[in-house]
Amino acid sequence: MFDNLTDKLDKAMHVLKGHGSITEVNVADTLKEIRRALVDADVNYKIAKEFTATAKQKALGQGVLTTLKPGQLLTKIVKDELTELMGGSVEGINLSGNPSIILMSGLQGSGKTTFSGKLANFLKTKKSKKPLLVACDIYRPAAIDQLHVVGEQIGVEVFSNRDEKDPVKISQAAIAYAKQNGFNAVIIDTAGRLAIDEQMMTEIADVHAAVKPHETLFVVDSMTGQDAVNTAKAFNERLNFDGVVLTKLDGDTRGGAALSIKSVVDKPIKFIGTGEKMEAIDVFYPERMADRILG
Ligand code: GDP
Repeated sequence: MFDNLTDKLDKAMHVLKGHGSITEVNVADTLKEIRRALVDADVNYKIAKEFTATAKQKALGQGVLTTLKPGQLLTKIVKDELTELMGGSVEGINLSGNPSIILMSGLQGSGKTTFSGKLANFLKTKKSKKPLLVACDIYRPAAIDQLHVVGEQIGVEVFSNRDEKDPVKISQAAIAYAKQNGFNAVIIDTAGRLAIDEQMMTEIADVHAAVKPHETLFVVDSMTGQDAVNTAKAFNERLNFDGVVLTKLDGDTRGGAALSIKSVVDKPIKFIGTGEKMEAIDVFYPERMADRILG
C-alpha cells in the first residue's frame, strides 16, 4: 500500500535528515519534492499545493531553520498535515435508532456488496448487533445471489424479494421485517452501475428519502484515484452522505483517493476494505494511515 508515495516522501525528506543547519531554500526544495510526490500519487494538484504551502508556513513558524534536527521536525509537520488532510480524528458510524438503518451507495464494482457483508459481520461480532442485510439491486439477479452467499458465509440473514421491482418498497418491507423479528441493524445494499447515471441517482435518492437512514455510506475503490474523488462528489451532491468507505486498499493504490476525498467532499473516511475476505475491514484512523504513508 502506498509504496511509491512512501518512497518518494522518504527521498524528499532525506535532504534534511542529518542536517545540522539548513536554509529556507532547502526547506522549499524538499516541500516541492513532497508536492510532486503527492501529485504523482494522484492527489489533486490544488490540494497538494495547499498542503505544501501550509507545511512551509508551519515549518518556518516552528523554527525549522534553527532546530538541531530539521528533518525530524519537518517529518512531524508533514505527518500532522497528512493526518489533518485525511480527517484528523476518528469518526464512528451512527448506530442510533432501533433498527439502525445503514444505506450503502456507490458504483458497481466498488466493493459495495462485499463491504455490506463485512459491515454486517463487524456489527455482529464487534458490536453485538443482530444485523439484517437487504438486497436492493433490482437489475442484476446475480447481485442478489452474491449477497445471499455473503450472508450465509457470515451467518447473517438476507432479505430479498425477486418479484418486487421497486427498491423503495423492498427497503420499507425489509425494515418492517427487521422490526418484527428483532433485528437492530439493517444494511441496505443498493444497485450500482459502471458509471454515474441519472436513473441510478434518482433511485438511490428515493430510497434515501423514504427510509431516512441513520448512516449513509459511500463505497469507493481506492485504486481509481481522481475518478474516486469525482464519483464521491457526484454522490455527495445527491445524498449528502455521512461517510466514505475506501475499498481495495490492499491493492496497488497510489493513495490519491485516501488523501483527497476528505477535503473535496468534507466527509470523513470511516472504514477501509483491505481484502476480499469478510474480516478484511478496518475502522479508518487518519493518524495511523499517515504513519503508514510516511513509512
Ligand atoms: P459491488 O459491485 O460494488 O457490489 O462490488 P463487489 O462487492 O461485488 O466487489 C467487486 C470485486 O472487488 C469483487 O471481486 C470483490 O471480491 C472485490 N473486493 C471488494 N472489496 C475488496 C477489497 O477491499 N480488497 C480487494 N482486494 N478486493 C475487494
